[in-house]
Amino acid sequence: HAHDGIRDSVASRGLGDVYKRQPGPKSIMLAERRANSVAQGHGTVCNVYIEKAEGSLLKDIDGNTFIDFAGGIGTMNVGHSHPRILNRTKNQLDKYTHTCFSVTPYESYIELAEKLSDLVPISGSCKAAFFNSGAEAVENAIKISRSYTKRTGILVFSEAYHGRTLMTMTMTYKEDPYKKGFGPFASEVYRLPYPSNKNEINFDNLDFDPKDIACAVIEPVLGEGGFIPASKSGMKAVEHFCKKNEILLVVDEVQTGYGRTGSFFAIEQFDVEPDIIMLAKSIAGGIPLSGVIGKSEIMDSVHVGGIGGTYSGNPLACEAALEVLDIMITEKLPDKAIDIGKAFRFKIDNIIDQCPWIREVRGLGAMMAIEICDPDTGDPDKERTNRIHQYALEHGLIMITAGTFGNVVRTLMPLNIDKATLDEGLEILCSALME
Ligand code: PMP
Repeated sequence: HAHDGIRDSVASRGLGDVYKRQPGPKSIMLAERRANSVAQGHGTVCNVYIEKAEGSLLKDIDGNTFIDFAGGIGTMNVGHSHPRILNRTKNQLDKYTHTCFSVTPYESYIELAEKLSDLVPISGSCKAAFFNSGAEAVENAIKISRSYTKRTGILVFSEAYHGRTLMTMTMTYKEDPYKKGFGPFASEVYRLPYPSNKNEINFDNLDFDPKDIACAVIEPVLGEGGFIPASKSGMKAVEHFCKKNEILLVVDEVQTGYGRTGSFFAIEQFDVEPDIIMLAKSIAGGIPLSGVIGKSEIMDSVHVGGIGGTYSGNPLACEAALEVLDIMITEKLPDKAIDIGKAFRFKIDNIIDQCPWIREVRGLGAMMAIEICDPDTGDPDKERTNRIHQYALEHGLIMITAGTFGNVVRTLMPLNIDKATLDEGLEILCSALME
């Protein structure tokens, strides 16, 4: 059984033994070919080339096994190669892979739209539209919001990440690497400080007229911005500001979506009601799919043909998404996210006294992160963060970083990670933090 094969190699390695074998010779050879053929702008943080992935484990082409705490940047909430997703998509592969929903439609798109419209925490009748990437969902939510409100302005927040296309890059906060040299940017995008526990939001002295704003776009927990949850009062204040000025509240759940934070949607934990929710990443188990779900009246304000795209709501992706939805419920993955978050805090709390560079352990549910700062100066310590990342990689743990200053270690492991693998991964993380 292939899964046992991958698992065994982690077990036989055992904890604590130094494992500086990767990248191995095959990965190094691929890195050379890559340097000659792939644009360098498309970076990579772990230079091990993957051959197979199952559950929460990755195996590279040199035979090294890694515990996956990155999950393709939060895309594999149901785990790699979930047998139910494999079966469902293989079944669809035998029928057809693409017809284009705008040409000849199919049932899976409708069924997914029905299910998600029922599921989102938005009252009244809702409708959905599907796209390919998170950025594309954001782009379309903006088009829909402008069409409905007949206003042009877009309100975003500091540390936000919404994508790399012109509009979403403009909405994104961090200059390097996302915006450097890529201007001019889209107009009519306004920014306020993100409302966190450390940052009370203030709507006085605005540099825009609220009556010009079509929508406010906000992540319930900042993803790329460093896993900072919005404060409940801040989120409430944003909702109040939106209601008062007839601005649509658009919630970006691309990274928080589907169970990661301990509830199906993170926004459920904030006692506010959005007008539109955007989803991507984990909704289709790694097959590109994104969605915009909102109040019917808003979604239907766009004229026929105004939104769409060749691959939007591709049948393979819709089938996978339907299966993901069911797995989320039957495997109780939002509950598992809470357990993961607790295990994470417990392990880190045990070593925190030995790591004065840990500034903060924070997050929501399984969306947990550790901020690393210089204990003497208090400044963000990107170098130490990179060392932690590298140590983890060398010891068999794939992780990624985040934050405006690149000094946040974040974890996005599959939510159905088994306890032994989770504990083993957390042990490696702790060793890396203590180094
Ligand atoms: N919004 C958020 C909150 C994200 O985290 C991301 C991806 N990191 C995006 C939008 C963009 O998604 P994609 O990369 O699929 O375009």
